[in-house]
Amino acid sequence: GRRPLVAGNWKMNGLRSSVSVVEAVRNGLTPAIHDAVDVLICPPSTLISSCVAATYGSPIAIGGQNLHAKPSGAFTGSISAEMLADLGASYVIVGHSERRAYHYETDDGVHAKALGARRAGLCGIICVGETRDEREEGRTLDIVRAQLAIGVPKGATAADTVIAYEPVWAIGTGLTPTPTDVAEVHASLREMLGRLIGPEAEKVRILYGGSVKPSNARELMAVENVDGALVGGASLVADDFLGIVNAYA
Ligand code: 13P
Repeated sequence: GRRPLVAGNWKMNGLRSSVSVVEAVRNGLTPAIHDAVDVLICPPSTLISSCVAATYGSPIAIGGQNLHAKPSGAFTGSISAEMLADLGASYVIVGHSERRAYHYETDDGVHAKALGARRAGLCGIICVGETRDEREEGRTLDIVRAQLAIGVPKGATAADTVIAYEPVWAIGTGLTPTPTDVAEVHASLREMLGRLIGPEAEKVRILYGGSVKPSNARELMAVENVDGALVGGASLVADDFLGIVNAYA
């Protein structure tokens, strides 16, 4: 079976004092959680070093929220996969809907970034998801399947790739799709992955993200083909994040 992954995406939140949240998560992890779930925190880049130090010797992984596709060069303000790896990050989020919406990231750009992540030995978490209009127009499956088909590089494996389904309308809104709707999208993504990468698709984790809380984590985790969660707001509070991690243990 696929080992669940619970990932926290802090987005643009957190000053140095927030490393205490990572310490609290570390202290709250039980051996049972450890045995059953992979735990990842993606703080802003400014905190990656200190979060790596704070989790040293623990099973918590630290990741980036974005990367530039190239390894280095004249790209003022950008950070490469190699730089993230050099700090001790092991994952990076690729193509989050906020990057797509506010920084005009395209599916081709997502593909290039996923290749960059792989080149540096990072596991890329490739995000897909429909807007509210797209869902209302009945285009959800077409949209997410196209995002996947263009975004996922050839030869992607479970070691270098995780998929996250994040309906844009569910992010930060308190709204979530029904378990039936989540099951439909995840099954369709799994099927599409099979076309793209063959039998390896069965091993790749597909996370759900969008208003995941301790109170709905168990219901979402029970859905077929849901292999974990990508958590925004609730990952900023150690007890909430631990509550979600616990649901997967
Ligand atoms: P919320 O959990 O705050 O809805 O955010 C989800 C998300 O975008 C995680 O990447």
